[in-house]
Amino acid sequence: MTTTNRPLSTERVQDFAAGLRGELIRPEDAGYHQARQVYNAMIDKRPALIAKCADVADVIRCVNFAREGNLTLAIRGGGHNGGGLGICNDGLVIDLSALSGVRVDPQARTVRVEGGAVWGKVDHVTHAFGLAVPSGIISTTGVGGLTLGGGLGHLTRNFGLTIDNLLEVDVVLANGNVVTANLHQNEDLFWAVRGGGGNFGVVTSFLFRLHPLRTITGGPTLWGLEQAGDVMRWYRDFIRQAPRELSGFFAFLTVPPGPPFPEHLHLRKMCGVVWCYSGPQENAAEVFQPIREFGPPALFGVHDMPLPALQSAFDALYPPGDQWYWRADFVNELSDEAIEKHVEHGAQMPTMQSSMHLYPIDGAAHEADKEATAWSYRDANWAEVIVGVDPDPANADRIREWAISYWEALHPYSAGGAYVNFMMDEGQERVKATYRGNYRKLVEVKSKYDPENLFRVNQNIKPES
Ligand SMILES: Cc1cc2nc3c(=O)[nH]c(=O)nc-3n(C[C@H](O)[C@H](O)[C@H](O)COP(=O)(O)OP(=O)(O)OC[C@H]3O[C@@H](n4cnc5c(N)ncnc54)[C@H](O)[C@@H]3O)c2cc1C
Repeated sequence: MTTTNRPLSTERVQDFAAGLRGELIRPEDAGYHQARQVYNAMIDKRPALIAKCADVADVIRCVNFAREGNLTLAIRGGGHNGGGLGICNDGLVIDLSALSGVRVDPQARTVRVEGGAVWGKVDHVTHAFGLAVPSGIISTTGVGGLTLGGGLGHLTRNFGLTIDNLLEVDVVLANGNVVTANLHQNEDLFWAVRGGGGNFGVVTSFLFRLHPLRTITGGPTLWGLEQAGDVMRWYRDFIRQAPRELSGFFAFLTVPPGPPFPEHLHLRKMCGVVWCYSGPQENAAEVFQPIREFGPPALFGVHDMPLPALQSAFDALYPPGDQWYWRADFVNELSDEAIEKHVEHGAQMPTMQSSMHLYPIDGAAHEADKEATAWSYRDANWAEVIVGVDPDPANADRIREWAISYWEALHPYSAGGAYVNFMMDEGQERVKATYRGNYRKLVEVKSKYDPENLFRVNQNIKPES
């Protein structure tokens, strides 16, 4: 489908706005600049209209308006996407941020979450019931984008990807109809939204399974860069045989200059692992004993804490409005040769917030079959992400160049594709490489539910023409 984004007459826009419960923001409105900003300040897009939807009826109205007017349509959940896929130039943005209701059913151990909520809100509510959904590592990330792309984080090894805990979605389709998809109705759509991103419609409601979990044992252990090769080799072997209740992502990082880090480590480039043990508390000391002993670490910052404390531990380090450049891959094996390259490039982190993370995605995430959901890399052991981050736009080139050269050195050792939520706008071949054998079926489902490709501001799956 080619969209023309033909000039919108004042009359059409006024008529559209009159039927919305939520606010419609235009370029001439005072709140426009704020409303068009997304988390990554490298993204600078100017939509014609931003609709702050107040309810599902508003979402339906927006979808119909965009389709009938041939407008580019973007869906904004938490606005975190690295490539800025929650916003567009010209066209209409469906801003879901006001749709953020969260309701726990403690008997059924489920939580229903509206399409524009962020994870911090979900964690806040579910924690009060002593329950949790596996999500990511930052509380300001949107439930919408993270879930639809797969969702990995501290609890992946124990409870699977976020999509492995998704029971049902309500979706506003391209034709304006609303359907429910789960394992028993619209199964093809339910299969596709578990990893296929926002390609199939606007998800206004998610239903997740909850797990009893209140307190975890976690935090960072840090080692000097001179030990990085040894630490990576040890980590590679250790995590693969660790109980699945233990997760730990490896990182190259610069120690932030403030508490809780001791002053002598401030601004030192180091390597580390951020741990999360979500098994029985009485076993935690034994599980962490070999970690305490390896090296030993320059900092052992592991302690008991409420799960939401770990889920939001990085929020202050990564506020909205920084420049971000992302590169990513899935990884099956961490060879000694690959580790050498990691050590070389990790040591060259250009700014304090720039980092490389390796998230383990084995354990419970390996239980589902490759074809069971749209997420195809069930055999990969890690999701690698290299992020150049800095508040100063003057450093944009430096962080981009570092991330690209690091990625180019490591890509030959990767499994081929990358986690869609860690990618920038990288073109069709990358999208295909990521869905591998599932791409064909995704095209079929896309052609059935969105034959004109109305929903294409995403890691796009093109319908059959
Ligand atoms: C600091 C930071 C930390 C992160 N950590 C993790 C992590 O630990 N684990 C992880 O898995 N990912 C992580 N991510 C990546 C994150 O999952 C993606 O950026 C994701 O796209 C963000 O979703 P969002 O709703 O906030 O983004 P948006 O930019 O609003 O949307 C992203 C995409 O999802 C679509 N979308 C959003 N909501 C809906 C909806 N309700 N219906 C249909 N389509 C929708 C949008 O159209 C767009 O294509 C992180 C990102 C950042 C910036």
